[in-house]
Amino acid sequence: MHIERIAVDESVGRVMPPGLFVEALSNSDAPVELVDEGEAFGPGDAVVSFGHRDAFVEADWVHCVRAGYDEFPVDAYEAAGTALTNSTGVHGTTVGETVVAYMLTLARRLHAYRDAQRDREWDLPRYKEPFTLDGERVCVVGLGTLGRGVADRAAVLGMEVVGVRRSGDPVENVSTVFTPDRFHEAIADARFVVLAMPLTEETAGMVDAPAFEAMREDAYLVNVARGPVVDEDDLVAALDAGDVAGAALDVFAEEPLPAESPLWNFDEVLVTPHVSAATGKYHEDIAALVRENVEKMAAGDPLTNRVV
Ligand code: NAD
Repeated sequence: MHIERIAVDESVGRVMPPGLFVEALSNSDAPVELVDEGEAFGPGDAVVSFGHRDAFVEADWVHCVRAGYDEFPVDAYEAAGTALTNSTGVHGTTVGETVVAYMLTLARRLHAYRDAQRDREWDLPRYKEPFTLDGERVCVVGLGTLGRGVADRAAVLGMEVVGVRRSGDPVENVSTVFTPDRFHEAIADARFVVLAMPLTEETAGMVDAPAFEAMREDAYLVNVARGPVVDEDDLVAALDAGDVAGAALDVFAEEPLPAESPLWNFDEVLVTPHVSAATGKYHEDIAALVRENVEKMAAGDPLTNRVV
């Protein structure tokens, strides 16, 4: 199938400057155009977008610039025969480094010192508070691009890495792989529980009160997946009750996190504004993926990261 136009939807501006992205795509085989709401699409069109618009299903192919495509009506694309691809595969390094940074921050207490610095206070930690990641166990839930990016880096730091994946098949640098039906067993002994799975019917609300009860009282939850995989009310209750020690959260049920959310208030909770994958090179990474698929489309080869 020949792509006659690559339409870049203005929504890509949520994750990168649209102008830079269009420029990075300019050496593709098809002309590139920036479009916005109200644009019509038809055969020969490829659309690159952050989010979904109903008009997109009239195009031949739609590429989502995120790994998570949970906000796209996959059935509508399938019914229309429109190819949908996502951007998994490019976030292993960015999110892997961010998750290691969260864990190091919490273990080495950097967040507490930064808070004290703001008040010009020379604030020493309690003797037992600082710890090292070396020798601690991390459980990584979801062992795809993100999960492996975390596992590889955690292993280098001397952590014992266990994980959860649907197949239960072994993964490099992960000493034990559990299937999702053993989720509570998998997280029970972990100092850090890192969520890196997609949001699906199965994973929505998976981290709830029983999960927090299963976790150690000195454990930290790290969520770089999607907000709704965690029951936020149950998380707040667990933090209040001391059932878990803290959290590092990049994603939330509602984004931006509402000002009235209690999650802003905990000393032991790091809140980041859905930026664990942020990098000044994002436009290049996504452009490479789109270019590769334009070529595959022309050659009639199966598309990389095809969802439907
Ligand atoms: P991926 O497809 O490479 O990996 C996801 C893995 O999770 C797969 O191996 C899948 O089999 C596994 N999985 C599915 N259901 C599971 C379950 N019930 N229990 C355990 N594992 C399960 O995707 P990825 O690129 O690693 O991204 C994963 C998710 O992370 C995305 O869907 C997206 O929602 C989120 N994400 C967030 C950011 C961010 O900025 N915070 C960036 C990229 C991705």
